[in-house]
Amino acid sequence: MTNPQRFRDFVARFAALVDAHGADEHRIFTDGEPLVAALVSHDDWLPEAFAAPSPESYRQYLLYCDPRERFSVVSFVWGPGQRTPVHDHTVWGMIGVLRGAELCEEYDAPSSGRPMAPRGRHRVGPGEVDKVSPTIGDIHVVANALADRPSVSIHVYGANIGAVRRHVFDPATGASRRFVSGYHNAVLPNFWDRSGELPAGE
Ligand code: FE
Repeated sequence: MTNPQRFRDFVARFAALVDAHGADEHRIFTDGEPLVAALVSHDDWLPEAFAAPSPESYRQYLLYCDPRERFSVVSFVWGPGQRTPVHDHTVWGMIGVLRGAELCEEYDAPSSGRPMAPRGRHRVGPGEVDKVSPTIGDIHVVANALADRPSVSIHVYGANIGAVRRHVFDPATGASRRFVSGYHNAVLPNFWDRSGELPAGE
């Protein structure tokens, strides 16, 4: 991590956006997407411990949670071949790719007992931002698009996403199961040690 200022700036700007327009999803997307895009356009700020893949499954590391839990910022790390189950979010989310690339498959909400077929598929590359929400489409699968190395994306959600009750789906039957994702880290990264930037004085 050489430039923690980038993350501090992002959090400050995003908090100001939520202060002003937190109830307006459209405005959060319109004004928030350039902030997420700017954050992931430089790969010089994420501490390596929060970009570490695991051979077991993808990882989700909480980087920041708003004091009132109006938004959270998470790094997702995908090892080669790793993917999520089919899942929803129940809140707005923006996903910016920092490293590598992701493949997303979108699904409509299941109708009972019917198999779920993906209605679209797209690739999200470095610096690009994808969006989800119950309004614009909330169910998808995300996978590492790269077979030979990890990918890392930065997600911003309209809640403390690790504590939200949401759903995973069996695409063969459309059956859903509730889940709460939690996080893989027990401690947060410290982006706020500015002592190196300041003269010690007398
Ligand atoms: Fe997702």
